[in-house]
Amino acid sequence: MRRKLAAGNWKMNGSRAALGELDAMAQVADGPAEVLICPPASLISAAADRAPASVKIGAQDCHENSSGAHTGNLSAEMLSEAGATHVILGHSERRADHGETDALVCAKTKAAQASGLVAIVCIGETLQERNAGDTLAVVKRQLAGSVPEGQTGDMLVVAYEPVWAIGTGLVPTLEQIAEVHNTLRSALCDRFASQGDTIRLLYGGSVKASNAADIFATPDVDGALVGGASLKAQDFVPIVTALCVA
Ligand code: PEP
Repeated sequence: MRRKLAAGNWKMNGSRAALGELDAMAQVADGPAEVLICPPASLISAAADRAPASVKIGAQDCHENSSGAHTGNLSAEMLSEAGATHVILGHSERRADHGETDALVCAKTKAAQASGLVAIVCIGETLQERNAGDTLAVVKRQLAGSVPEGQTGDMLVVAYEPVWAIGTGLVPTLEQIAEVHNTLRSALCDRFASQGDTIRLLYGGSVKASNAADIFATPDVDGALVGGASLKAQDFVPIVTALCVA
């Protein structure tokens, strides 16, 4: 009942020329999995114009306010007007580089959803937290603090992204992924009752074609948030294909 989702996070990469990658993604975008690409904000409008109808375009952040004196920021409404349908919030790079707290991510999530954007809320432990045995406590705390009340599966996606696995080539064991996703599913169902079961849980962190099938076969993994391997269609398409057959 949860549609699989393959989401690409281009981070601060890409130019107009890179939008040609979207053309090649059309071949898998009409399948059972939803396909989303989140380019830099400067490319959202052009990407939305160029992407095949079945490839959705998202943003990587939004401001918690709808307008005002916030130089350099973009509101959720602006991103929506530019063509975004989704927005990644609370990515560990924003938590680390910009000091984003759970409370701020929660405020951004409310703002995004009020503008009709699907919020992809990212959570995940550092290596230090994992080694200390704190992973489950950390992700439960982040989930509780970053996600507002009244959620449903059509407005929220949660991405479990261990900080130590992002861009490193390191991946948790399938048992570790299953343990966290199971914990998150229980927390969502405890909080949002039957709606908790409709909220998609993505895994993110060094997903590539060679490990995608195993990760997608893990219980309660509804797709992936993919960084480096989403930049080129030749890397991303096999991941989407693995998700479609999972
Ligand atoms: C990410 O940045 O969300 C991510 C998962 O990156 P990568 O796939 O490159 O590890």
